[in-house]
Amino acid sequence: MPLVSMRQLLDEAAKKGYGVGAFNVNNMEQIQSIMEAARETKSPVIVQASRGARAYSQDRFLYHLMLAAAELYPEIPMALHQDHGNSFETCKSAIETGFTSVMMDGSLMADGKTPSSFEYNVEVTRRVVELAHEKGVTVEGEIGVLGGIEDGHGAGVDALAHVTDPDQAVEFVERTGVDALAIAIGTSHGAYKFTKKPTGETLKMDTLIAIHKRLPHTHLVMHGSSSVPKDLQDIINQFGGKLKPTWGVPVEEIQLGIRNGVRKINVDTDNRLAITGAIRKVFAEKPEEFDPRSYMKPARDAMKKVVAQRMTEFGQAGHAGDYQAIPLAEMAKFYRESLVHA
Ligand SMILES: [Zn+2]
Repeated sequence: MPLVSMRQLLDEAAKKGYGVGAFNVNNMEQIQSIMEAARETKSPVIVQASRGARAYSQDRFLYHLMLAAAELYPEIPMALHQDHGNSFETCKSAIETGFTSVMMDGSLMADGKTPSSFEYNVEVTRRVVELAHEKGVTVEGEIGVLGGIEDGHGAGVDALAHVTDPDQAVEFVERTGVDALAIAIGTSHGAYKFTKKPTGETLKMDTLIAIHKRLPHTHLVMHGSSSVPKDLQDIINQFGGKLKPTWGVPVEEIQLGIRNGVRKINVDTDNRLAITGAIRKVFAEKPEEFDPRSYMKPARDAMKKVVAQRMTEFGQAGHAGDYQAIPLAEMAKFYRESLVHA
């Protein structure tokens, strides 16, 4: 199947009430892990790349790996998404490269660090929507500011400093026309999300539910939603790692989100932990090994296992064969017509 728009994946997920994991990639093994997990669980999937990942893979390597994935896994609907685009130019270059979806994160200025004004966010996101929809490409926006810093991106603020205001969320969606909306509800990027299991005080699921009530037709996105399971932390520490104790977003909270309009769930840290744990284990147990495949294969298997588990937990498993790809040109027509009727 050709790469499809993320809007189509999320519309289908909304029809049937499930969520779709969006997994970050930098290299071939991570893409292979995701595609094998998708095949095993028969899941549609979102593969996403940050600006850092695009730089790491020189963009073209990543794009062509995705074309290989589309060729080798024709039964899997998949979208290629720009994670945290920092500017109009970044989103434009992603669209020109062949991404079928972009996130314009105007909650921060183009430096990817400084929280922006609401008006700036509306203006830059609206411009990206105009450009993207003309080509049938999906746009995710963000309102509120997430905690933490990842890949050099993030304000590094306390995760509860800029929780999304539901009224602003409604105005933002109306004025920008985004397809999906990332909200800040106390989650952070990176491994250190919570210092203990989150409660309603630290993970604001009530805010998420309030936003969904006001915007029942907008696909909501949960960022920083790795669960950071203890067993993955333990493997790393058991074989020489030095992770401090930390808590992520429990899967049951994500499932509550999915029952309340969450259609895209971003997971990166869990996969990083799985890969690193598997590699550390080989290095510790078989110090004589030096063929990269001897540790990359177990790493790939470990990531595949985590991804397959999330696909099952999010409910996307079993839905790969539900629909055919809508070409981006058709999506562009759909956007043009909805403007005429608006
Ligand atoms: Zn994010």
